[in-house]
Amino acid sequence: MNWEPWTGCYQKSAGCDNCYFYGPNAKRYGQNNITKTDKFDWPIRKNKKDEYNIKGGKILATCFATDFFLPEADEWRKEVWAMIKERQNIDFLFITKRIDRFMVGLPEDWGEGYDNVNIGCTVENQELADYRLPLFLSYPIKRRFIACSPILERIDLSPYLNGVDHVTVSGENGRDGRVCDYEWILDIRNQCEKAQKTFWFKSTGTYFKREGIVEKINPFKQGSTAKELAIDISDGKKLF
Ligand code: SF4
Repeated sequence: MNWEPWTGCYQKSAGCDNCYFYGPNAKRYGQNNITKTDKFDWPIRKNKKDEYNIKGGKILATCFATDFFLPEADEWRKEVWAMIKERQNIDFLFITKRIDRFMVGLPEDWGEGYDNVNIGCTVENQELADYRLPLFLSYPIKRRFIACSPILERIDLSPYLNGVDHVTVSGENGRDGRVCDYEWILDIRNQCEKAQKTFWFKSTGTYFKREGIVEKINPFKQGSTAKELAIDISDGKKLF
């Protein structure tokens, strides 16, 4: 299930160029005003019997169509942290390109982190990996993973893998998607295998290079093509 407490976003780094939601070919292009949605308080809404509408045991993919750490949402994020604390039987999963804003507005009782928060730090290239991941690892977060999404070049994650649970990698989708080289994917898989971390090749993206040949992959087959390569390293737990 997805929960978008706010909508709107704008470019932060190289991986945003063809953003699925706000890139030049996307329906929401130019939607840079950050506004609350009508689902802002969705996780704590109750029915007439005073039961939560969303039952426990779910994973809520949160802010997948915006960024949880946008400065424009600093005040709202305080309310969202309170909702997350109230719904300890739901896992809240974030992916962000703004991990360097993690400490802004953190709840006073955060301590070492809430158990039900799982944060994915996006890194698209080596420069961003070397900037974001040391910060990511320095913050008090109990559950973390790395999302190379979209992967834009070969990336050495090995200095950072000890501090994370999992790595997910995707190529870039959209008609102007940049090429995703299978060699980069296998390289990260090897790093994960050595570090004994789980790994998920989520999507090939539009242009997928394998054995020197770039193939254009139908948008509906990018996930299944990645899956068919059968290179995931799983511990049996479901991430999404
Ligand atoms: S941060 Fe995410 S949602 Fe925002 S523009 Fe970049 S890719 Fe799109």
